[in-house]
Amino acid sequence: MDDTRGVDDRQAAMSEAQFMAQLRAAFSQMPNDIPIYMFVNREKDDIFAQTNRQIVKIFRELTKKITFREYPLDHDLARKWNVIHSPTLLIAPERYAIRWLGAPMGEEGRIFLETMMMVGMGQSHLNDESKKILKKIDSPRAVKVFVSPTCPYCPQQALNGVQAAVERPDVISLEIVDIQANPRLADQYSAHSVPQTFANEVLIGMGAQSQELFCASLKKLEAQTVFIPEVDAGLVENDVVIVGGGPAGLTAGIYTVRSGLATAIIERDALGGQVATTPIVENYTGFSQVGGKSLVDIMVSHALQYVQIFQGEEVLDITPGTPMVVQTSRRKFHTRAVLLATGATHKHLDVPGESRLAGKGVSYCSTCDGPLFVGKKVIMVGGGNSAVTEALHLHHMGIDVTLVHRRDVLRAQDVLVGHLKEAGIPILWNIEVKEIQGDKSVERVVLYNNRTGETSALDVKGVFLAIGYEPAVGLAQKIGVELTGEGYIRHDRHRTHVPGVYSAGDVEGGYKQIVTASGQGAESAMAIFEDLINPYWQTRKGA
Ligand code: NAP
Repeated sequence: MDDTRGVDDRQAAMSEAQFMAQLRAAFSQMPNDIPIYMFVNREKDDIFAQTNRQIVKIFRELTKKITFREYPLDHDLARKWNVIHSPTLLIAPERYAIRWLGAPMGEEGRIFLETMMMVGMGQSHLNDESKKILKKIDSPRAVKVFVSPTCPYCPQQALNGVQAAVERPDVISLEIVDIQANPRLADQYSAHSVPQTFANEVLIGMGAQSQELFCASLKKLEAQTVFIPEVDAGLVENDVVIVGGGPAGLTAGIYTVRSGLATAIIERDALGGQVATTPIVENYTGFSQVGGKSLVDIMVSHALQYVQIFQGEEVLDITPGTPMVVQTSRRKFHTRAVLLATGATHKHLDVPGESRLAGKGVSYCSTCDGPLFVGKKVIMVGGGNSAVTEALHLHHMGIDVTLVHRRDVLRAQDVLVGHLKEAGIPILWNIEVKEIQGDKSVERVVLYNNRTGETSALDVKGVFLAIGYEPAVGLAQKIGVELTGEGYIRHDRHRTHVPGVYSAGDVEGGYKQIVTASGQGAESAMAIFEDLINPYWQTRKGA
């Protein structure tokens, strides 16, 4: 046992050393210096400032191109560059207007590294479509991206901001605001969910956007929802296109490529689907307890050993035929089979105030938005595994959370209910939320007791909703795939009734566990492999 662990440790150390060597080599090729300035309040040397020093020290060991200077907030340079928050990191302020308010902790660490690489190279690495949009911007854009260290959607949006600021330093300035370090600033913007993006004080993005949508929203100063490329940016020939990068899609990709089928996975949001925002997973075989995002990272790095993943790209249309044509927001794929592993999206309560206050105290992601509510009173609505897991997560973060459930028994597994009782989280039974009230952000909820018929009000700062999911079947419907009465994809061992179109995971309904979604992905991949050798639709036609 010990021997094996020793080998694993040595392998991990070796790959870390290799990674560091690659970074060192990459930095040595860079033409530009990367000066970093940190401004701090002299009286308040907090964890964020300390973390910044440590992070920069690690990177400075890789290259002399990174320099680091620290100044108090009352220094002349702070006045010159209009720095008022502590700590603030400025990256190459003579060339770019990119600053970090707080520290690039957790998920943001990777974006900090990418920022330094882009600044060192002097290149944004944006695609041509995005560059074309930014080129048309002719007046200043002051961008603020609010992020949290635990939010899996935030890095993509922060990266969009950095790329734009590197591409057009003449007009675009960027502040990445860590909400944990800057709760007051987040309050001021009523940014109670992350990522949230403002440009010139206008909300231009709620959630992560593809780079083209971000650039289009930035240009128009208004959130854009659809981006159609002007020209087809290249054609990709494949055997299989998988729509969705959750456990089902990632597993299917591993299986199809191992069967010799050229495969692409396309995911418009964060990889991992719902798992990425699940605080803790305790029932995925081989892991007695693992953070949802950590499990996703392991799955993604495994999948990447085999399959190409196109993240931040949206499938706009699928035309069945030979070949099938998959049009995304960036390119066209010709493929022999399409696997729909589009998962599910969270359900809404559909009560007054919910949509108006979404992102302003109403949240569907405790992992992302929890940090803003530390020390505050919130409710978690729902009685399933998600509601209980997330209520526990909020409780452990130091949030005063009460579970609100519409019945007198929870749907969640016994082991989770046990954890809930041990933690002493209060539960309001037989209670329905009838309205969410507040002016700029959530202030109270109106509750209805369906046993006594009484209505009451409860003052809260946040309303977290975990009331289940609805299958994401928009694309399936668009191409005429049949659905079940409950709205899931109708399938026969993962074959939909449209030849060449398959399904896997939560979009099929069923048990909706990570392990079952992965299993469905594997089964579906094997069905595709069998059919591409021996197409069942041709056999049927001939029969
Ligand atoms: P779920 O199991 O469908 O539970 C949804 C909960 O929300 C139920 O308690 C339901 O109440 C309540 N609800 C639904 N609509 C509501 C409304 N309009 N108003 C108030 N309450 C409402 O959803 P989930 O917890 O998100 O789980 C989804 C799937 O993922 C499940 O299969 C679950 O097992 C799985 N999951 C597994 C884990 C894990 O194993 N660690 C973690 C998370 C999720 P009723 O009970 O009255 O219907």
